[in-house]
Amino acid sequence: MSLKSTMNVQNVNRRSFLTGCASAATAAAMGVIATPTASVARTRRPLASPAVARAPHRLKDVRTIRLTHQATGDRFRGVYSESGRYIPEVMEILNWTLRDVNVDEVRRMDPKLIDALSNLQNVFDLDELIVTSGYRCRATNERIRRRTGRAAKNSYHMHGMAADVYSYKVGPRRLARAAWTYGAGGVGYYPYNGFVHLDVGPQRRWRG
Ligand SMILES: [Zn+2]
Repeated sequence: MSLKSTMNVQNVNRRSFLTGCASAATAAAMGVIATPTASVARTRRPLASPAVARAPHRLKDVRTIRLTHQATGDRFRGVYSESGRYIPEVMEILNWTLRDVNVDEVRRMDPKLIDALSNLQNVFDLDELIVTSGYRCRATNERIRRRTGRAAKNSYHMHGMAADVYSYKVGPRRLARAAWTYGAGGVGYYPYNGFVHLDVGPQRRWRG
C-alpha cells in the first residue's frame, strides 16, 4: 500500500508553518507545563492494550488513526506507525490536521498523543474521532480560558500533547473511561459539552 493511499487530508498547506505564537514552544523547551487543577484519581488500572491485540495487522505492528477536525473538516484516515516507527510524512499531516485552526499554526504533536487517540478509537472500533481542539497557541488558549474557563493557563494543548475529542458512536462518559484505562495521561470528562480532553501529561482525571 503506498503512502498516498493511506492519506485523506484536505488543504494541506505548508505555508502555515509559520511562527506567531512561539511562546508556547519556548515554554515547552523550558519544561514549564502546568497541571490543570482537578480531582485526581488515586488509583488506576494497569496499562493494557486489548485494542492493539485486536488489531488486524498485529504481526506487522501497523497502527492506524482516523481523525476529523470539526472546525475545518480536515480528515486523516490511515496508517501512521509501522513496526514501532512513526511515519514522518504522516505525522506531518497529523500535525497539520491538529493545528491551531484559529491562526493556522502548526506544531509538532507528541506521537504518544496519537497513540492514545488510536487506542481509544480501537477500543470501540470507531469510524473516526472528531477533534474539537488540538494544538493551541498561547493566544488561542488564553482566549478559550477567558471565555469558557475550561482551559488551564499553560495547557497541554499548547505543547502539542492534548486533544479534545468526541464520537458520534460512543458518548463522552465511555470515551473518558476507556481513555483512562488504555493509556492517556490526563483525561477530562465534559458531559455538558459532550467531549473528552485527553493528554499525555501525568496521570490525572477530572470532570469539567
Ligand atoms: Zn482539552
